Amino acid sequence: MAYVTFKDVKKIFPNGFQAVHQFDLEVTENEFIVLVGPSGCGKTTTLRMLAGLETLTSGEIYIKEKKVNDLEPKDRNIAMVFQNYALYPHMTIYDNLVYGLKVQKVPQKEIDIRVKEAIKILGFPQEYLKRKPVQLSGGQKQRVALGRTIVRRPAIFLMDEPLSNLDAKLRVQMRYEINRIHREVKATTIYVTHDQVEAMTMADRIVVMNEGVIQQIGTPDEVYRFPSNVFVATFIGAPTMNLIKAKYIKQAIVFSNGYQVALPKPLAFQKEDILVGIRPDDMDVKKVDTQHLLNLAVENTELLGHDSILYGDISKEEKLVVKLPTHQLKKLSLTKNKAVVSLEFQAENLHLFDPETQQRIR
Ligand code: ATP
Repeated sequence: MAYVTFKDVKKIFPNGFQAVHQFDLEVTENEFIVLVGPSGCGKTTTLRMLAGLETLTSGEIYIKEKKVNDLEPKDRNIAMVFQNYALYPHMTIYDNLVYGLKVQKVPQKEIDIRVKEAIKILGFPQEYLKRKPVQLSGGQKQRVALGRTIVRRPAIFLMDEPLSNLDAKLRVQMRYEINRIHREVKATTIYVTHDQVEAMTMADRIVVMNEGVIQQIGTPDEVYRFPSNVFVATFIGAPTMNLIKAKYIKQAIVFSNGYQVALPKPLAFQKEDILVGIRPDDMDVKKVDTQHLLNLAVENTELLGHDSILYGDISKEEKLVVKLPTHQLKKLSLTKNKAVVSLEFQAENLHLFDPETQQRIR
């Protein structure tokens, strides 16, 4: 049975703006769900409705079998971690950790047990407990914020962009930490981010949202390999998936210069115009000698160390990005005057979309 269920949840703000449309989701116990999407797509509003901080315009939210639409936030057994840590600056770290428990009148003996357990899970040195938040780094403050939720032993953890105030290196470290803590604490977690890398690396399942509408729900692998529409295809993965206009003729994809890729099976698709998606690292890059392939006039190259990125044009209107191992780029011996490469596509690497509906065909 689902642990958290959203049934046709909608949110229209008093000014008439609809932030969330028909949100349906079943979260299983101990699952780590990531809501991801661009700024303003309704992630925070969805989380706040589950927390009880925002009312629903229609629909239902259940925690186990209990409908919680009208339940006070404090009665939902949910704890929320925010991006700005929300620590009390005048209190010590210890007091910050236990404040919520004291308000709930949890006995001191029990508080001591929970704090001990939390600092063990967090790997937090005992002496930090006497410090004030100002004496801690951003990562340490975020760990205290996590600790404060762990001591409450909630059934559900909600996290709203908890890493966005940290620098890139610390974000990577804290991603790992949060996953480790999740495995230890085993609480159902719903995590909100606009960062697709966080979503891909942390989630059991990802919910991709855009303009208040769920675009796809799936494991990171499903969402990456089988994006259900053009939005998901271009939102997940970096560098972004390339989109190329082509024709579907006699079981083959035909590009503007005549280059053809035969498909193993016919498509259930009646139209001729088709939109082809291909990830930058999913193509074979060759010296420009094979005229029947797609040619890329390279405008710029970026060396990232192990890999390199090529930026160029395949036609007057169409740009393309290619990612390839740097050693392979060197073999192509590109020069300013001879900066053209040939690209070969394998049918299994092509994502095919209907240009009108933007939905995946195959
Ligand atoms: P971000 O990543 O920027 O936090 P988000 O995906 O979490 O974005 P929400 O905060 O859920 O987005 O907001 C969704 C939309 O609802 C936005 O367009 C926002 O401007 C709008 N919105 C949020 N709160 C209100 C409100 N009280 N009244 C009217 N519109 C609102």
